[in-house]
Amino acid sequence: MPRMAVAIVWFRSDLRLHDNPALSDAIKTGAPIIPMFIHSPDEEAEAAPGAASRWWLANSLRALDVALRKLGGGLVIRRGRAADAIAALIRETGATAVYWNRRYEPAIIARDGRIKAQLQQRGISAESHNGSLLFEPWEISTQDGRPYRVYTPFSKACFAREPHLRPLLPAPKKIPWPAAWPKSLEIDDLQLEPRIDWAAGFRDTWSPGEAGAAATLRRFESAVVADYSTSRDIPGVVGTSRLSPHLHFGEISPLMVWREVSTCAPKDSTRIAHSDGGSTFRNELLWREFAHHLLYHFPRTVAEPLDARFATFPRKHDARGLKAWQSGQTGFPIVDAGMRELWHTGWMHNRVRMVAASLLVKHLLIPWQAGAAWFWDTLVDADLANNTLGWQWIAGCGADAAPFFRIFNPTLQGEKFDPDGLYVRRWVPELAELPVRYIHNPSSAPEDVVRSAGVLLGKTYPAPIVDHAAARSAALAAYEHVKRAAP
Ligand SMILES: Cc1cc2nc3c(=O)[nH]c(=O)nc-3n(C[C@H](O)[C@H](O)[C@H](O)COP(=O)(O)OP(=O)(O)OC[C@H]3O[C@@H](n4cnc5c(N)ncnc54)[C@H](O)[C@@H]3O)c2cc1C
Repeated sequence: MPRMAVAIVWFRSDLRLHDNPALSDAIKTGAPIIPMFIHSPDEEAEAAPGAASRWWLANSLRALDVALRKLGGGLVIRRGRAADAIAALIRETGATAVYWNRRYEPAIIARDGRIKAQLQQRGISAESHNGSLLFEPWEISTQDGRPYRVYTPFSKACFAREPHLRPLLPAPKKIPWPAAWPKSLEIDDLQLEPRIDWAAGFRDTWSPGEAGAAATLRRFESAVVADYSTSRDIPGVVGTSRLSPHLHFGEISPLMVWREVSTCAPKDSTRIAHSDGGSTFRNELLWREFAHHLLYHFPRTVAEPLDARFATFPRKHDARGLKAWQSGQTGFPIVDAGMRELWHTGWMHNRVRMVAASLLVKHLLIPWQAGAAWFWDTLVDADLANNTLGWQWIAGCGADAAPFFRIFNPTLQGEKFDPDGLYVRRWVPELAELPVRYIHNPSSAPEDVVRSAGVLLGKTYPAPIVDHAAARSAALAAYEHVKRAAP
């Protein structure tokens, strides 16, 4: 009997075996499978992973490789231009088909389109699937067929399409493998991890890989989702899922999360609270969908404001301010706590992301793109769609964005969302001994209180780098330019 030609499954942002449409479809053909990963940052433009994401990627690839080895196979690792790497693997193995799950970053869409066309021209079957979103960006549109720019009607349209969601796909129990394996680089050869090891805090915090993602979802379901509607805004407690890096790298699919949270209604009296938390949570997952919808339909927003009037906004190039913000030395405790949590763990709580981002773009008037670039390099969940939406939302220039004139007071935000100062005490230990009354505003404390807490303002902890009231007025004056610009 002639041997069946092999099929390549090209893993990208779908580093899992469960609910993986490309893998399932390839296995269905009965062809021997070669799982492949290609590291090609040079052609990924703004989607090329930053330092924190590279750490995650290395560990996630290891986990996927182990999972494939348990089934008797493994992950073939290559690097360089994806088209070249795929062509080489086809030459070496005689593969006649390539399967992958789609990504939505502009440079990746363009590259993948070229690869698909080249493969098809050569008579190689090229099949792409949706493995990363609940709905394709083109499946949801307004009544007149246009993309949405406002979240609420977008989310309603998603809920209306819920019955069309496909069934979940089980992880394969067996995968047919080729008789001979092509050569592969080691994951270490990709040099994804830092040469000077700064990742200890990451290792203490995260378990990259499919098993880590499943455990994170289980923890969320059993301990967090019931209170999610209220706890999600309190950075001092574990009140959110912390699934974002797992979702970004596709170690779990949004459909798995959506289905799991939809069916986890408890049998007892906590039902109402639980389902309420679940529905708030599903709305957050739809913000992720909305972000991808916007990135797909408005790819220029990676670098430019969606609201073109904001191109006239007078911005500052303030290297000192940027450095103070990056290093958690702004003198606003809630912001500094967030920036240090980010540096130490590669993640920051959503409420604090909003307050920290707002300080950068509204108080310091630094371009949102500079903040987005820092987040890109330091977040383990750095995601082009979510990061772009998050920054443009805060800067007031994105879809359905926060109005620019609503300017967070970072001190009041701290007092409201970190009322006991738990979060600040954890991440800004030099303030830990301050009484709760002053923890979010150390410079308002009487001198003897500051001294007995061991704080030397201006030495062990900085005074605020800007005065809130003056910065607010300056921001509103700058906003006048936008109001005058033609729509
Ligand atoms: C300035 C700024 C930058 C951001 N950059 C990123 C980024 O690079 N990557 C990223 O994944 N998220 C980003 N976010 C969104 C949000 O802060 C994170 O998704 C969230 O904090 C992740 O924690 P979690 O998984 O515990 O969230 P949960 O509250 O448990 O939410 C579940 C999931 O829903 C999605 N989600 C939640 N909130 C949002 C949101 N506002 N926008 C889009 N998706 C959302 C995420 O996938 C998240 O994992 C950013 C927000 C801001 C304000």
